Amino acid sequence: MTDAGYEAIIIGAGVQGTSAAYHLAEAGIARILLLEELGAPGRGSSGRSGSMLMKSRENRTKIALSKYSYDWLLGFEKRFGEPLNFNRIGFLSLVPPDLVDRYKAEHELRLEMGVPSELVDPGAIRELSPAVETDGIEFGVLGPDDAVIDPDQLVRSYLTGAQRLGAEIHTGEVATGIEVHGGRVRSVFTSSSRVACDIVVNAAGGNAAAVASWVGVDLPIDNLRRSLFFVECLSPEVQIGPMVEEAGVEWYFRGLGGGRALVGMGLEADGSVSDEPDLAFWAEVQRVASRRVPAFRDARVVSGTSGVRPLTPDILPIVGPVPTVEGFFNTCGWGGEGIMHSPAGGRMLADSVLGLETPEIPWEACSIGRTGLAAIK
Ligand SMILES: Cc1cc2nc3c(=O)[nH]c(=O)nc-3n(C[C@H](O)[C@H](O)[C@H](O)COP(=O)(O)OP(=O)(O)OC[C@H]3O[C@@H](n4cnc5c(N)ncnc54)[C@H](O)[C@@H]3O)c2cc1C
Repeated sequence: MTDAGYEAIIIGAGVQGTSAAYHLAEAGIARILLLEELGAPGRGSSGRSGSMLMKSRENRTKIALSKYSYDWLLGFEKRFGEPLNFNRIGFLSLVPPDLVDRYKAEHELRLEMGVPSELVDPGAIRELSPAVETDGIEFGVLGPDDAVIDPDQLVRSYLTGAQRLGAEIHTGEVATGIEVHGGRVRSVFTSSSRVACDIVVNAAGGNAAAVASWVGVDLPIDNLRRSLFFVECLSPEVQIGPMVEEAGVEWYFRGLGGGRALVGMGLEADGSVSDEPDLAFWAEVQRVASRRVPAFRDARVVSGTSGVRPLTPDILPIVGPVPTVEGFFNTCGWGGEGIMHSPAGGRMLADSVLGLETPEIPWEACSIGRTGLAAIK
């Protein structure tokens, strides 16, 4: 390792960059620098999420990532001494006729992998979530263990945990390039200096493809925009029950208490982010949402935000080394699951740096060399 500079520089202090820092520091990597271009950590996609921690995912790889992460997060308070505000509200998918086979297969897979999952008929849907109209819905799939957590606390705890072990963070400092010499990374150029290092971790979220391009690596990631609206909706029924999604329509809601609800929708090919509600888009969201939940006809937007989901072609993340540049590692492409899978992401990243394997984590399915993702120049 270098005498001057850092053992590892992590570009991006979102939930994945801070988890990577914590897991690397815990594994004994002493000199770590997190570079964050914004004024504070966790203000990219990590600060714009629906805050869901879920085990009911759609394939083996994601369920394995979820199970590892969920169990790890159950020990969060003991590990970090802070509450994660874990609230096991459950998650209910409303399934229309054309998606029956797919959702039944996912339900069976969850049960096979030890994840609680329940099929509920339209009558039971109305009992669980009385605000929902069930016409045209065949059944629901309920993930009773799925929960809401506090993503800001997660980022804070990863970061302070890493700092206690010696990691540093520079906020308001942009990484602008990576020096590669003799086939390995040597340093990172930033808005203010050049910093020597042995390892670079690309945790740049929606900028990850640009960062990888600095070392000649193509990452097949598309940034798709999703918007969240915090609305006033006075119907008490909206407050009852789990988070609800309408399968195939890409919208969901949950009650927040105090006459408020969260409504999310969208996967547009538009990488822009915003801290203001997109009221033009709300008109479309309200039209779709109030067909299923009539109470949303009278909802009023109080605030809103739009963030990106960086998605790969197979909707799995890209984690670990690249074969062409020694010392360059990715943890990116986390799509809509970067919060809930952040313990597995940090563990996989640290394992890949140290040459270890955690058996429960499907690291090969997340590697850049997996079938169908061979996009290295
Ligand atoms: C509306 C919405 C709802 C979501 N809901 C959920 C949910 O309920 N549960 C869940 O698990 N996931 C959810 N997600 C997905 C989740 O938010 C992301 O997967 C996760 O935040 C990705 O974390 P990250 O650390 O990879 O990226 P980010 O949080 O975006 O962090 C990347 C960081 O890198 C910094 N950066 C970029 N380039 C540079 C540079 N050159 N120099 C320095 N810094 C740089 C950025 O400023 C940013 O802070 C949601 C996403 C959206 C948009």
